Amino acid sequence: MRLVLFGPPGSGKGTQAARLVARHGIAHLSTGDMLRAAVAAESPVGLRAKAIMDRGDLVPDEVVIGVIADRIEEPDARKGFVLDGFPRTVGQAEALAKLLHDKGLALDAVIDFEVDEAVLLGRVEKRAKEMGDAARADDNAETLQRRLAAFREQSAPVADHYRRQGILSTIDGMQEIDAVTAEIDRIVEKASAHA
Ligand code: AMP
Repeated sequence: MRLVLFGPPGSGKGTQAARLVARHGIAHLSTGDMLRAAVAAESPVGLRAKAIMDRGDLVPDEVVIGVIADRIEEPDARKGFVLDGFPRTVGQAEALAKLLHDKGLALDAVIDFEVDEAVLLGRVEKRAKEMGDAARADDNAETLQRRLAAFREQSAPVADHYRRQGILSTIDGMQEIDAVTAEIDRIVEKASAHA
């Protein structure tokens, strides 16, 4: 099973990705986590990405596409994966389609989390408070505004791209966590039945 979780920062993609991984034994591919690991390791990718991430802007397509291309090759991703936070631009979506096509693979579903911006701000502030000293550098009100602007301007067209392909399912991400999980389960079951 190959899924994309699409939605703005704080929309619950990471929480639901973890549940999908536990339930289906697929790999969790979060470009945000991969980039934060690269920043911590001070690798060439990390050095390039750090200031951009701290500002709340998007890391250039060629950097994230390179990271994902390598990660998809790892053995644990062969059974399937859930992409969390990628693709975030139409260019990334096209690169992903090509990477998968070259392997004779395709996406089963793209799940689009809809959450109002006021709710996102509340969630991100809560996450920062709960994490205390370990909070993400970009989980603050000011940087979130930039991350939301990046989402509106660069990422929103990705939903239209997948809608046109007929593989987008939009869900209400403001429901209780378990209700969102149940809705995702239904989408995944339907997609698997068609596969
Ligand atoms: P996330 O953990 O998904 O919220 O990502 C944190 C930050 O990493 C984002 O604000 C971007 O700076 C960067 N990032 C993560 N995924 C991508 C992506 N697919 N394209 C560009 N930048 C990304």
